[in-house]
Amino acid sequence: MKFNLGVKLLISYLVIVMTGVFALSLTASIFAPAALDRHIAEMQSMGQSAALVADLHRNFRAAVNAILVISTSVAMLAAGAVSAFVTRRILDPIRQMKTASRLIAEGDYQQRVKVYEEDELGELARTFNQMAERLAHTEERRMELIGNVAHELRTPLSSVGVLMEGLVDGVLPQEPATYISVQREVARLQRLVDDLQELSRAEAGQLHLDLQPVNPIVLVERTADKLRPQFADKSVSLVLHLPERTPQLDLDPDRFTQILINIMGNALQYTPEGGRVTVTADTQAGAFRLRIADTGIGLRLADQQAIFERFYRVEKSRARTGGGSGVGLTIARYLVEMHGGHIHAESAGLGHGSTFVVSLPLT
Ligand code: ADP
Repeated sequence: MKFNLGVKLLISYLVIVMTGVFALSLTASIFAPAALDRHIAEMQSMGQSAALVADLHRNFRAAVNAILVISTSVAMLAAGAVSAFVTRRILDPIRQMKTASRLIAEGDYQQRVKVYEEDELGELARTFNQMAERLAHTEERRMELIGNVAHELRTPLSSVGVLMEGLVDGVLPQEPATYISVQREVARLQRLVDDLQELSRAEAGQLHLDLQPVNPIVLVERTADKLRPQFADKSVSLVLHLPERTPQLDLDPDRFTQILINIMGNALQYTPEGGRVTVTADTQAGAFRLRIADTGIGLRLADQQAIFERFYRVEKSRARTGGGSGVGLTIARYLVEMHGGHIHAESAGLGHGSTFVVSLPLT
């Protein structure tokens, strides 16, 4: 049989009342007659009649029974009232949580419950509200991400659309330059999709590091060598001031290289022709510190933190022509933090260059 909480509480109170009544009548039936018999024996020794004694016996039993019936009824009424009160106090918050969780499951993430008291139920209500808060936040980020992704995909897709339309209509010539433009937009889409996949893995905590003791300087030099042709193409000089000896760090070499490519690639992208990018490294206060300084366009104070947020670009149109998706630094920050490190940007302001500092704990 299925009882609700209120009925269960009432039954438990009634069981307690009935146990009390049973114990009371049992003890009364054991002790009271003995006391009465002692009293009657004394009365008989004083010469009272047998009829009078029997009447006394009867009256006494009737009185005890009446007392038991009245007190049982009062106790049962009290049990009903108390259980109704307690049930309300327990059930009201539970009912609220039930309704709120149903509404949340239907997509209304703004539902919260009232915290009535500082007891276990209050604690449960507070935890419930925290859970609702987190769900609302996650949903907000999800919607924001979908909006951003749609926005990011629109530009290259419409470029491809326009180019293809031009080709079909014969407005654009069927020559390599036109196809290269299409190819460039497709490559941009590919990069964006790759970045998004990487970002979603990082945000879901699904990126795994293959840590091994490595010399970070070797990786910096190797990455610099790889990027040198691009620096040369844009006439930006790349200067390394690296110490001879550095303690080995527990790093994932591929991921660390990815961090370097993101930051050094940005330094190149946001530094005009004739500029310089300088990479220095030192070890202090238990950390290996890498500084990548450029003589490029610089950053306003307000942007120095925001650029690590996903899809944040200081100047949307400029970054878009440059092909940036606005998630490179977000991924770099995730990767640095997964290594137990920290990344930040410094700049004396627009036109004064920027410096990106990566600190990683020594093994
Ligand atoms: P993007 O792919 O757009 O470069 P990032 O996440 O790598 O995305 O960078 C975010 C934004 O930070 C860039 O759009 C740019 O506005 C700014 N930024 C990054 N690096 C530099 C730099 N070295 N100098 C100036 N601005 C930079």
